[in-house]
Amino acid sequence: MTMNRRDILTGGAGAALAATAEIAATSPASAQAIEWNIDADIVVVGGGASGMPAAIVAREAGNKVVLVEAEKHAGGHGICSGGNLPLGGGTSYQKKWGIKDSPDLVYQDLTDWSVVSANGAADYRYNDREIIRAFADNCAPAYEFLKAHGVVVHDKPPDTQGGNSVGASVPREMHCSPQDWPLIQTGQPATPEQKASLSTGNGLMHPLIEAAAKAEVEVLLEHRMKTLHRQGPHSGAVIGIAVEHDGKMINIRARKAVILCTGGSTSNVNFRRMFDPRLTEEYCGVAGTPWSYQDASGELAGMAVGASLWGLANNPAEMGSVITKPGTIGGQFGYVNLQFHPGSEVFDKARAVGLRVKDWQNVVTVNMLGKRFYDETGPQYASDNYGVNKDYVPGSYLNAKNMKWNPHNWLAAAMQGIGDGQNGGGPIWAIFDADAVEREKWDPKAPNVDEANGFFYKADTLAELAKKIQMRFQRVPMPPENLEQTVARYNSFVDSGKDDDFGKPKPLFKIAKGPFYAAWATPVLHDTRAGLRINAKCQVVDMNGEIIPGLFAGGETAGGFSMHGIARATCQGYIAGNWAIKEPRRA
Ligand SMILES: Cc1cc2nc3c(=O)[nH]c(=O)nc-3n(C[C@H](O)[C@H](O)[C@H](O)COP(=O)(O)OP(=O)(O)OC[C@H]3O[C@@H](n4cnc5c(N)ncnc54)[C@H](O)[C@@H]3O)c2cc1C
Repeated sequence: MTMNRRDILTGGAGAALAATAEIAATSPASAQAIEWNIDADIVVVGGGASGMPAAIVAREAGNKVVLVEAEKHAGGHGICSGGNLPLGGGTSYQKKWGIKDSPDLVYQDLTDWSVVSANGAADYRYNDREIIRAFADNCAPAYEFLKAHGVVVHDKPPDTQGGNSVGASVPREMHCSPQDWPLIQTGQPATPEQKASLSTGNGLMHPLIEAAAKAEVEVLLEHRMKTLHRQGPHSGAVIGIAVEHDGKMINIRARKAVILCTGGSTSNVNFRRMFDPRLTEEYCGVAGTPWSYQDASGELAGMAVGASLWGLANNPAEMGSVITKPGTIGGQFGYVNLQFHPGSEVFDKARAVGLRVKDWQNVVTVNMLGKRFYDETGPQYASDNYGVNKDYVPGSYLNAKNMKWNPHNWLAAAMQGIGDGQNGGGPIWAIFDADAVEREKWDPKAPNVDEANGFFYKADTLAELAKKIQMRFQRVPMPPENLEQTVARYNSFVDSGKDDDFGKPKPLFKIAKGPFYAAWATPVLHDTRAGLRINAKCQVVDMNGEIIPGLFAGGETAGGFSMHGIARATCQGYIAGNWAIKEPRRA
C-alpha cells in the first residue's frame, strides 16, 4: 500500500495499514519459527532526518522499502528543527557563493584536536576518524540529493547561524525554507515573511516525506519497533524486526537490511543517565518532544543483538546545544526555538506555548529551596563554528591558547542539586513580578503557561507563591522564608548595583510588585551525540569489532560524531541507504 505525503504526516492511512497486519508471536525462539507478516528488502526504523533519506535512496534503487514510524506522524525531531543545515565539502550552493570547500577540509576541521571552546570543551577530539571521513566524502552528494528531492534553502550566502561543531575553515550553514508547507508548530502555512526568511525543519522534512510517498516507500505509522530479529542471539545476520501496532506484535522481514534511524536517547531517563547521572526525571522538557520521542529504542535493540556503543565522550561534553538553557518558561517544553501553538497537531500534549524570555534581567532563577545559584544572564554552552576563533589555524596550539575563558556554568549550577544526596538539580523556577510582566509584554495565562499541570504558579505574596509550588518533581517543599530572603537580597543588589553572590552584570530590576510568579525554567535536553558503533558504511559493529550483517544505523542512533543535527543525520541516512543495498546481509 502506498500513501501520499499528507497520509504519512497525519496518519490518515494508519487504520487501513492496521488491517494488513496479522497477529504474530512476539519473540520466536529461533529464526526459522518466525511467522513473517510483512516482507521487504529494506526495513527502515524511524521517519525522521536520517530515516527518510535512507528509505528514499533504497527505494529509488528498486528495492521494496518499508519504513516504520512510532508516532502517528513522520518527521521526527528533523521536522521540529531550525532547519540550519551545515552540509559542506564543496556543495553547488557553496560554489554559487564563491566558498571554496572540499571533503578534505571538512575532514580536517572535524578532526582538529586543537579546537577548544571558551569553557574548555574540545569539539572534535573524540570523533571517530572513519566515520568523519565518510561524512566528509558524502556531505556534498547528500546536499545534492536533498536538493533533488525538493529541499529548498534560502538564497543567501552560507553563514554560521545555528551551527554546532560544524568546522571552522569556511561557512557551511544553509537554511531550509518552509516554502508552502504547513508548519507543525502552528498547523498553518508559513506566512509571507516566514517564507522569505524562516529557517525550519518543516522545509527539510515535508519535501522528503513527499519524495518518499512519490517513490512508494511503504510507510507504516504508529508502528513501534520493539526488537530486532537476528539469526542467533549474537550471531548471524539481522533478518527483520518485531513492531507493536495497535496492541499487537507484527514481524517484518528484511531480506537485505534493517536501518536503525530512531534518533537518540534524550527521552530515556535510564539510558541518558549512563552518560550523565544527573539527568534524572525532572529533565522532562526534551527539545523535539512531544512531537516525537527519542527513547533509545534503536540503541537498546542493537545492544540486545550484540552491538557496541561508541564515542561516549561526546555525549556529556559541555558544548553546543546538548543541554540548553530554556528559552521559554512556564510550560514543560521550553526549548528556545520550538513553540507549539493552539492549532498544532500536538498542542494537546504540549499544553502551553511558553513565555519567551527576552531579557534574563527580568527574572531570578531559583532551585527547589528557593535559592539563587548563578547569574541569570549567564549563557549556555558554546561550540565551534566558522568565525568563533578569529585567528583559526588548523592544528595550531594557539587555537586553544587564544580562546578567552568563559565557563558558561548556568547549566552546571542548575543541575548541582540541593545537597540532599540526590542526583539531579530538581526543578528550576524563574521568579518575577507584575512589573516584569509589563516589561516583557507577557500574557501569563493559558494557553501561554501550564498552570494546570504545575509548571506555572501565581500568588499575591512571595510566601504564598513558595507554598503553592507543588508538583511531581518538586521533591521538597520550597521554604517560604527562603524565597522571601532570596528576593530581598536580590533587591538589595539592585540598590547597590552589584550582585555580590553571582556577579550578574548590574542587576536592574527589583522583584517587588505583586502578583508574583514562578515559571518552570528547568534545563532542556536537546541532543544525543553517542550511540551505536558504526563504520564508514553505517554498518553496526559489535563488541568484538565485527560487523553485524544486515544492520545499519545513522543519525542520533549512531555514535562517534560530535556534530549536532540534521547534516549528520541526513548524510548518514544517505550513506546507510546506499550501502544497505550494496552490501546486504549474506546469511
Ligand atoms: C527543536 C529542535 C531544533 C533543532 N534544530 C536543528 C538545526 O537547526 N540544525 C541541525 O542541524 N539540527 C537541529 N536539531 C537536531 C536535529 O533535528 C536532529 O539531530 C535530527 O533530527 C536527528 O535525526 P534522526 O533521524 O537521528 O532522529 P529524528 O529526526 O528524531 O527521527 C527519529 C524518528 O524515529 C522515530 N522512532 C523512534 N523510536 C522508534 C521505534 N522504536 N520504532 C519506530 N520509530 C521510532 C521517532 O518517532 C522519529 O520520528 C534540532 C532538534 C530539535 C529537537
